[in-house]
Amino acid sequence: MSSLYAEKIIQISDRCRSCDHCTSVCPSGAIAGKLGEQHYIDHNKCLNCGQCLINCPAEIIKDLSMAEEVKAALANPKKFVIVQTAPSVRVALGEEFGKAPGYNAKGKMFASLRKLGFDKVYDTEFTADLTIMEEGSELINRVFKAVGQPGYETSGPLPQFTSCCPAWVKYAEDNYPKILPHVSSAKSPQQMFGAVAKTYLPQKLNIEPADIFCVSVMPCTAKKYECSRPEMISSGYQDVNAVLTTRELAQLIKEAGIDFDSLPEEAADSFVGQSTGAATIFGATGGVMEAALRTAYELLSGQSLEQIDFKAVRGLSPVREATVSIPIKALGGAVLPVKVAIVTGTKHVASLIEDVLAGRSNYHFIEVMNCPGGCINGGGQPIRRDA
Ligand code: SF4
Ligand code: SF4
Repeated sequence: MSSLYAEKIIQISDRCRSCDHCTSVCPSGAIAGKLGEQHYIDHNKCLNCGQCLINCPAEIIKDLSMAEEVKAALANPKKFVIVQTAPSVRVALGEEFGKAPGYNAKGKMFASLRKLGFDKVYDTEFTADLTIMEEGSELINRVFKAVGQPGYETSGPLPQFTSCCPAWVKYAEDNYPKILPHVSSAKSPQQMFGAVAKTYLPQKLNIEPADIFCVSVMPCTAKKYECSRPEMISSGYQDVNAVLTTRELAQLIKEAGIDFDSLPEEAADSFVGQSTGAATIFGATGGVMEAALRTAYELLSGQSLEQIDFKAVRGLSPVREATVSIPIKALGGAVLPVKVAIVTGTKHVASLIEDVLAGRSNYHFIEVMNCPGGCINGGGQPIRRDA
């Protein structure tokens, strides 16, 4: 497969001021160098998360940009250029254009993407719903296997880990390959979108998959790495051709001279229907877990799940846990206490993995998001020096 991306998404320039700040935020020990020395990245260990980039006081760490390829596709009349936007982008983009913190710039963002020339403008929320359904159903299969229900013998083991954060997935692959059977097989919302965009959409719009150029706007630099993984070719073509970060989209809008403030509020194009809105919470830590657990709960019990009460795990503050009692219809209403955990920051997951591998874990489902607080603080978000 030809990929538009090289492996080296994140680069430290030779203008490094040797302050050593980046080593403290790197979750994988990928930054080499001591205080007073030029630092560099070991790309074998790097998760492409960009936490070093947004935390570098000198702003000399950069991510590989795809903006020129996107501009070339937009200028090519033979290409049908579509874009998806992740839930965590809209508020951060508004802040880039001087909107009050918390302002949802979704409508103006869709309008600005049309002004930039995208042929179709979509919301990733729809395929986030697909990820939730997939992860929730997979969890049910694993639970049924664990309780000895016939017909589920080939399902994976418990606990199930989430799979939508590419930095976490790479960390698991690099450091704990034995844990991989526990990681959900569901594609992330970005890649679900890419797969549908290059298989279903060409039939619906009567366009060749090769003529579709699929762009993502993400809060995340690791998504640039994810889209170039060799297995992400459901149609025989790279499912997602290019990723723009929130920062890069803001830059494109400014370069094009678009007056963001005066744009009308526009809606996204419809893909195949409505999203549930549950996917909106994907961007914050705990969001994926809660959405997938709600799906599993409804499928297993036929009822809606009330509020989930997460509590910090003592001694592991970035790890929170909860127990949800699920009455399982297929087992005559027998109640199964499902224990779940959410981890914010990949560097905090090692002890949970070691417990799983040693047979000491009693969790059923574990969400891992690499960035502190989740994607809202991803490496592709605007850099705030006042934070
Ligand atoms: Fe470390 Fe993330 Fe920077 Fe890679 S991108 S060097 S994993 S902080
Ligand atoms: Fe990307 Fe979100 Fe994972 Fe950070 S937490 S690496 S922004 S997917």
